[in-house]
Amino acid sequence: MGAGMRRKLAAGNWKMNGLLADLAQLDQLAKAPLPPHIDTLICPPATLIHPAIAQTRASALAIGAQDCHAQSAGAFTGDISALQLRDLGASAVILGHSERREGHGESDQLVAAKAHAAQAAGLCAIICLGETLAQRQAGDTLQVIGAQCAGSVPATLDPALLVLAYEPVWAIGSGLIPTLPQIAEVHSALRAALAARFGAEAAHTVRLLYGGSVKPDNAAEVFGVADVDGALVGGASLNAQDFSAIVQALAAA
Ligand code: PEP
Repeated sequence: MGAGMRRKLAAGNWKMNGLLADLAQLDQLAKAPLPPHIDTLICPPATLIHPAIAQTRASALAIGAQDCHAQSAGAFTGDISALQLRDLGASAVILGHSERREGHGESDQLVAAKAHAAQAAGLCAIICLGETLAQRQAGDTLQVIGAQCAGSVPATLDPALLVLAYEPVWAIGSGLIPTLPQIAEVHSALRAALAARFGAEAAHTVRLLYGGSVKPDNAAEVFGVADVDGALVGGASLNAQDFSAIVQALAAA
């Protein structure tokens, strides 16, 4: 994962999908020439991280995780630490996805603690933020994103190992996406929040991804929005052909 210069990033989140047989999708992805000037990442379920890394070792495709614990080791049955993920060769971890905030009651404070743990282990922390439909309809989007950012992205994080993903909850898996000006408004607010937190220079190096129903047919227009440095892709990342099309759209943007 490139630091310093703001390389674009196409990241796939397989969620709780995929069996060993589905690693064939990675073969297909990794065999197609990946554009060298952008970063490409797949975050398969934890069960597939090790074989995925073994399988893609010779390619530029990076492998990441979808969550980690805030502690590096201990009596936490069923959990996985950032150190363990790094030990496998993972380079990044998605944190604070809305499905974890909602389904597992993850608070901003917990997401921040996990992000510290991830960075301490050398992983890039991909922190997700996003409003619900009710919050957007109430006109509270920027306030909600601002509060999530204040709580989940403390100034003690290292901006060199940080990616933010704006993922409106109502756009995830729904086929709906915000208008391009709505995406631009949130990304610009996030860039300003990062500048206030880390200084303008460091804030400029943090990739801001858009996530929520990115597909081959809408990727190019989303990637044309100012301050969109790539995408976090759920459903369309499960299919190598669809994800490749999104990667190519990002490379051309
Ligand atoms: C996600 O869950 O991170 C996501 C963006 O999902 P989808 O692309 O399926 O909307």
